[in-house]
Amino acid sequence: MTKLKGRCLCGAVTVRVMDAHDPRPGACHCRMCQRWSGGSHLWMRDTAPADAPYDLMPGLFDAALDWPLQSEIYVDRAMASVPLSGEHRRATRAEWEAGHSFVEGDA
Ligand SMILES: [Zn+2]
Repeated sequence: MTKLKGRCLCGAVTVRVMDAHDPRPGACHCRMCQRWSGGSHLWMRDTAPADAPYDLMPGLFDAALDWPLQSEIYVDRAMASVPLSGEHRRATRAEWEAGHSFVEGDA
């Protein structure tokens, strides 16, 4: 757990996370995230706990260069061009949606 400081691309907006926070990002390969991220097919987000009150883009934080991946969901929907390596939790679409019925729009 760590406190985080980051900023937007131009530096006009800064972000500070004052409470303890696990910075390890999660990756989602659902179609909604692929479309929303503009084609990079990944939207990094904190997925633990699943009911976290906010998500932050790891790219806001320079320290993110050293953060290992925590989890990866919709692994069976990932684009072949960017496989993610490492030892982290992985879940297929069926595995993820079995425990998260609120997920919609992955078509
Ligand atoms: Zn997603």
